[in-house]
Amino acid sequence: QARIDRIKATIRTCPDFPKPGIPFKDLMPILHNPDVFSDTIALLEEHVRETGTKVDVVAGLEARGFLFGPPLALRLNCAFVPIRKAGKLPGETVKCSYVLEYGQDTMEIQQSSVKPNQNVVIVDDLIATGGTMAGACRLVETMQANVVGCLAVVELDYLKGRDNLKYAVHSLIHY
Ligand code: IMP
Repeated sequence: QARIDRIKATIRTCPDFPKPGIPFKDLMPILHNPDVFSDTIALLEEHVRETGTKVDVVAGLEARGFLFGPPLALRLNCAFVPIRKAGKLPGETVKCSYVLEYGQDTMEIQQSSVKPNQNVVIVDDLIATGGTMAGACRLVETMQANVVGCLAVVELDYLKGRDNLKYAVHSLIHY
């Protein structure tokens, strides 16, 4: 709990960003302090190890899932695979549309990056409505791989994002 408290203490709430009425959680200060960053990755790793499931791939969501995913993959000694906004990845890709607060967007993953039946943990910085994470789950399903967990550093419980997710969700900090 001391580690969680220290991480939480570094997170800033920025009122009215990026739009009026939105209290944006700024997680960047976590990366300003190597001890806090290290604790964050360690807590994610410990959770994955406690589940006892072998993980083949950590999939990180653009953009801040790219900050927490690769160090976690290193610690788990597995692959890191990026899930990006459409149009950024070369070669064969698999696409999926997902719902945003206003409208929709498309994310994609490289076809060859995840093999059928591999166990995939999906990582993002924050779960709000869960729409982004749900889209990533569908992408992994399309690849015929197994979603073995959805991880985030922060979850905004009042938006009930986990109700949109049919897999195990674990977040370190809840608001
Ligand atoms: P969702 O799809 O509504 O769950 O939104 C989650 C996505 O939006 C994640 O990729 C987050 O990076 C981003 N996001 C939404 N709200 C915040 C916030 O307050 N701080 C940081 N990222 C946020």
